[in-house]
Amino acid sequence: MKLIDVVETFKTDDDCLAYLETMRWPDGIRCPLCGGSEISKITRKKLSKNKRTRIYQCLEPTCQQQFSATSGTIFNDSHLPLVKWLMAVALVVDAKKGISAKQLQEHLGIGSYRTAWYMAHRIRKSMEISVREPLTGIVEMDETYVGGRSHGPAGRGRSLKNKEVVIGMKQRNGEVRFFHAINASSATIAKFIKENISPSVEAVMTDEWNAYPKAMIEASIHGSKHKTIRHKSGIYVNGDITTNGIESAFSLLKRGILGQFHWISVEHLHRYLAEFEYRFNERNNPQRFQKTLNRMTTTAPMTYADLVR
Ligand SMILES: [Zn+2]
Repeated sequence: MKLIDVVETFKTDDDCLAYLETMRWPDGIRCPLCGGSEISKITRKKLSKNKRTRIYQCLEPTCQQQFSATSGTIFNDSHLPLVKWLMAVALVVDAKKGISAKQLQEHLGIGSYRTAWYMAHRIRKSMEISVREPLTGIVEMDETYVGGRSHGPAGRGRSLKNKEVVIGMKQRNGEVRFFHAINASSATIAKFIKENISPSVEAVMTDEWNAYPKAMIEASIHGSKHKTIRHKSGIYVNGDITTNGIESAFSLLKRGILGQFHWISVEHLHRYLAEFEYRFNERNNPQRFQKTLNRMTTTAPMTYADLVR
């Protein structure tokens, strides 16, 4: 769904809630607290500002929870009109190089930067993938450095010149994964390989960074399965051996971070990586707007205090 379709389809909060209800409860509305299906709709005599229009009451005597489609989800406690939330999702999922909180604030007429920033991070949070299958086939792997700025206490272990290490993997004709790493040592790289690449992988292709051979051995990617492209000699494609796939994904990430966000604090980098990774992997999915909203209705709340801690 493009922004124009969202604008034409969802005119009111009620429209949005009706839609979120069908996503969250395809088999009928249930109480998010006790799971009970005996519920009644609460009709408000007067609609006050910042209140959801479709509120339900659980009829289970020991529960009696009042809730809406957004209760207990990533939308929890937001006072922003849902129409703006949905427009923001449409903008974020289609912005190849990302869209900053400042841009969202301006495009959607959101009162404060902080509100727009908090919303953007909640959308990102719902894009984080927690359980994943090991990558197989041919996997390209590379590392890059992105600028970071820390709001944390001074003296915390910073990587090279205040740049943060991002490790990337891409299964050929498959998904991309980005990780914020503490460094690019062989031990760190081996840990990410073990967590993400199947030992039965056909081949892992990397550049000539000298941490890779040791990391592969540690991760049981044996001998000929590790193929190296020699960038120093100016050869970027050597037969089938290339890391161009992961490098183009990195390039999108870096252009986005430099172009839209200017700087990203170290504490939030993993969430931006989740966003870029998700958008890249869903780029050919025509249902990506719906899929994202669906994820948002199943993602637990993230309070502002949690976000800035
Ligand atoms: Zn209940």
